[in-house]
Amino acid sequence: MLNADLHSHSTVSDGLLRPAEVAARASANGVQVWALTDHDEVSGLAEAREAAAALGMKHIPGVEISITWAGVTVHIVGLRIDETNEDLVKGLALTRSGRERRAREMAQQLANAGIPDAFEGALKFVGNPDLISRTHFARYIIELGIQDDIGGVFRNYLTEGKPGYVPHRWATLKEAVSWIRGAGGIAIVAHPGRYGFTDLQLDALLNEFKQLGGVGVEVVTGSHTVDEYDQFAKVARNYGLLASRGSDFHAPGESNVDLGKLPPLPATVVPVWHNWQL
Ligand code: AMP
Ligand code: MN
Ligand code: MN
Ligand code: MN
Repeated sequence: MLNADLHSHSTVSDGLLRPAEVAARASANGVQVWALTDHDEVSGLAEAREAAAALGMKHIPGVEISITWAGVTVHIVGLRIDETNEDLVKGLALTRSGRERRAREMAQQLANAGIPDAFEGALKFVGNPDLISRTHFARYIIELGIQDDIGGVFRNYLTEGKPGYVPHRWATLKEAVSWIRGAGGIAIVAHPGRYGFTDLQLDALLNEFKQLGGVGVEVVTGSHTVDEYDQFAKVARNYGLLASRGSDFHAPGESNVDLGKLPPLPATVVPVWHNWQL
């Protein structure tokens, strides 16, 4: 099987390795086709492309766009995008623009919950001042010894009903899919198992997504359980969607799955790369 890892992060969003370091790690782990998909950012792609070329690894330009759908934050991965496309670049800039204010509100809430200086604390882990994310706050909370790992932080902080959660309105599904398609790319629903949707909600999302021109869902991802690999392989088949595979790697020792170390896609699905000239 082709070792494709089509979802990963660098210091350009909430990862801890630079794009070239992510490339080197992917290549060392046997990845043959690799996509860096930073949150709402494409500024790491030039470095990613150059590093992948030097390593003889195929590079697919990608992005992971934050959207709000039916009041829930959902992530849409775009692959094979032209990252210089003006509408995409503008749309991503707009999507990022509320993050600093949100982060200051998160810090205020955490201060009220007895965790001071969280804005400055999170900033220490930020590689791109345009992209302060909950992951950076999570690392600060771990540094303080309040929680042992990222999973623990998100069970007790930064999520709905917990200290440090600030609701945010991201892009719309329609915008994200149209920016990706307008930039020549394909749109994929990231880790569909992560949203806690009922079958009915998932059905509504996927129907709307397909109507807008979306073509795939992630099936094998570091953000799914093994049971969810099968569950979403069935979903991909039932909806006529292509299947993607990606670790969602953020940092050594922090992510569930390392680059390139996922099981293969089930044989019952059509991979997103089925018609790529590789
Ligand atoms: P943000 O874009 O600021 O809302 O941050 C979202 C990021 O937080 C995701 O991309 C993940 O990296 C991280 N995250 C959210 N929920 C969890 C979770 N339950 N476990 C681990 N990481 C999480
Ligand atoms: Mn992330
Ligand atoms: Mn995601
Ligand atoms: Mn991700």
